[in-house]
Order: sequence, then C-alpha cells, then structure tokens
Amino acid sequence: MTKRSRATIVEKLIYIKYGELTLKGKNRREFVTCLYNNVKKALADFKTIKIIRQFDSMTICHIAKTKYDKVFSIVKAIPGIAYVIEGYGIGRDENKLHAFLKTTIENKKQTFKVFTKRSDKSYPLDSMQFSRNLGGFVLKNFKNLSVDIHKPDLKINVEIKEDKFIVYFNKVKGCGGFPLGINGRVLMLISGGIDSPVAASLLMKKGFHVDFLTFVSPPHTSKEAENKVRSLIKQLTLDGRLEKPLLYICKFTDLQHEISHITNHSYQITIMRRYFFRIAQHLVKTQHYDAMATGESLGQVASQTIESMTTISSVLDNVVVLRPLLTYDKIEIIQLAEKINTYNISILPYPDACSMFVPANPTTKPSLAKAEALEKELMLIDEIYKRVIGKHIKREFV
Ligand code: ATP
Ligand code: MG
Repeated sequence: MTKRSRATIVEKLIYIKYGELTLKGKNRREFVTCLYNNVKKALADFKTIKIIRQFDSMTICHIAKTKYDKVFSIVKAIPGIAYVIEGYGIGRDENKLHAFLKTTIENKKQTFKVFTKRSDKSYPLDSMQFSRNLGGFVLKNFKNLSVDIHKPDLKINVEIKEDKFIVYFNKVKGCGGFPLGINGRVLMLISGGIDSPVAASLLMKKGFHVDFLTFVSPPHTSKEAENKVRSLIKQLTLDGRLEKPLLYICKFTDLQHEISHITNHSYQITIMRRYFFRIAQHLVKTQHYDAMATGESLGQVASQTIESMTTISSVLDNVVVLRPLLTYDKIEIIQLAEKINTYNISILPYPDACSMFVPANPTTKPSLAKAEALEKELMLIDEIYKRVIGKHIKREFV
C-alpha cells in the first residue's frame, strides 16, 4: 500500500482510559464530565482537535501531525487518566484493518495475541469471532509469528466502536487519580522548597483544585523568592493548561519582627508556624476552602515532629491540614520533584520566610502551654496579626 492511500484511511489518535474505575452511576457521570472539561481546557489552543467522550474512554482525534507528541505529553499529565494510548482509527472494514497491519507489524516480533473489545454490540461478529479471524489473518501473512496467549511479544488490541476500529499495541500509564476539582478546594502553603510543590502535585492528582499561599518577608526575602514560587506553580499547572490557580502572597515581615522578640528563641519557628496556620485558617474560612495543606514530612526538621505538629495545629478550629508527604523519605520526595520537573526550580538559592530567622537550637518538643505563654509576652502581636490579614495579603492568578 502506498503511503498516500494509507493516510486516507488511518488516523493517528490518542485514546484515553479513565482511572479509578470502581466509580459507579452518578459519580462516574460526574467524573467523565469533569475530566472531559479538563481535557478540553488543557488542549484549548490546539484548534483542530476533536474530543469524543464515552462511558469508559475518550478519543482525541484530528491532531495535527506536528503537534502529536506535544498533545500526548500534556494528556499524560492530566489527573484522572489511567492510560494514554497511541492509537489508530480505521474505518470499519476488516480489509482496511488487514492492510494497516501489513504495513505496521514489525518483523522482530515472534509471538502475538489479539484482544478485541466490541463496544458497539451491533457489529455482526462478536469479539471471539473477530479475534479468531484477525489471528488467522496474522498467522497467514506473518510466517515468523505464532500465537502466545500468556506472554505475547505483540498485543494487537482492537476496539470496535460505532464509527471505526481503534487499534493499538501499547498503553502508557497516565497520571491516574481523579479529575482536577472533583474532590474540593485546598489551600496549599507553598515555600520555594522541594516538598510543598510535590505535595501540591499529589493533591492535584487526587482531584483537588489547589490554590496557594506563600509567606514573604521583604526586605529579608527577595523578589526572586516570590518569582520562584510563581515558576513552581506554573510548572505544576503546565503553564496554566491544567488550572489557573490563585496565589495569595502574605507579607509576614511585621509579624516576623514581633516574633523575634520572644524570650525563648528555641520556640521561634513554632510561634512563626502558628501564625502561618492562623493566617491560612483565616483564608480557608473566608474563601471557603475545604482544607489546608503543607509539604510537611515526619521527622525531617524540628518543626516536623508529632509534638510540633500538635502545638502548631492547635491554633486551628475545625480546619483539617492535609500532609500528603507525611510518611515520605526525602529521597522519594526528590524523585517525585524530578519527575514533575519542579526540582530544578526548587534548588535555586533564594531563601524564603522560613529559612530566615532560624534559631540555633529549635525545640523538637514544644509544649502548647509554653507556646501560648510566649505569645502572651508579645504585646503588639494581636494588633499586627489583624493588620497583616487585613492589609498584607495580595492575591493574583498564576
Ligand atoms: P519545603 O521544601 O516545602 O519548604 P521543608 O522540608 O523545607 O518543606 P519547612 O520549611 O519546615 O519544611 O516547611 C514545612 C511546610 O510549611 C512547607 O512544606 C510548606 O507547606 C510550609 N511553609 C514553609 N515555609 C513557607 C512559606 N514561606 N510560605 C508558605 N508556606 C511555607
Ligand atoms: Mg522549607
């Protein structure tokens, strides 16, 4: 077959299988609609593309040849997709299918198996008969190939749709999880470090819409530190393709100065983080988030012991803190950061509000009573806190 005639009957497309397949009924409908809208949004600037949604899969057609790889890499990052498949759409004619396989199957393979799924039950052959016929064709035309039903080198998958056959040989794992936004809205405390962006990506994967809060202390922290946070968020959302989140930037300098007057410096981080949490709680309640989140991981630093977490969280009233990295090792976190391409941004050397003002010996077991007593010593702190939440939180879309 000439290249030209093949091009007219075969279309290279992207075939998507959903994740979390245990979903049923109304939940599944909601899942599919949400995922469909997310895919549409992510691919909005590829004008030719058509997306067909079905009960258990989605097909992306009319992809310009030069854009195929780019579209594929975007789809791989969209939460809620279990498998992303390089597929071929062929008119529903077994002769065309045969012609396609003749030009496509590689000589190197030794064993094969045909997998048929008949989505359109009105097709005259059932999947067993279809597989048998197609298997017969392959055996006849490829003398080097034999059938192996257990561990074939080559899997020939054919799905019979209403308007076409979809053929594919391999499937690539997608992001998995749930479609963005389906599980609620979370406010992520993001620093310029390695952990919080990774934590945010895990929450996005679980279907949360994530907005961000960062604390800055100018002039002790630089504009670059702020821009670093913006870059991290852009990387997480594939430059706004997946979502356009809000970033709250809280100028923490006045509180930081006041906190530096406490008489027991080993509590400085504890008190600072209690104010981080109070401010986050204020936003969670006024902006109606379902939860807040951090990149904390147990035992990494003084502020990340159970005692610290208890003393810090005790400022919260009916607000849950999600800590997706709680049990992760640093090495695992770094591997994830590399995978989602945030690592190289995170290691840029611009200190954030947390890394300034670190006492020589931070306490690892702060008591709540002591923390409360130390806060009482700070005469101006309530007033400053009110001013910060009233005037020192800017917001922007990233
Ligand atoms: P990260 O790599 O995310 O900075 P870390 O291991 O350095 O984490 P800490 O600096 O103790 O740990 O911070 C723990 C968590 O507190 C962070 O993951 C983040 O959620 C939050 N946090 C720390 N500093 C800031 C900041 N300047 N602005 C907003 N949140 C912060
Ligand atoms: Mg940090």
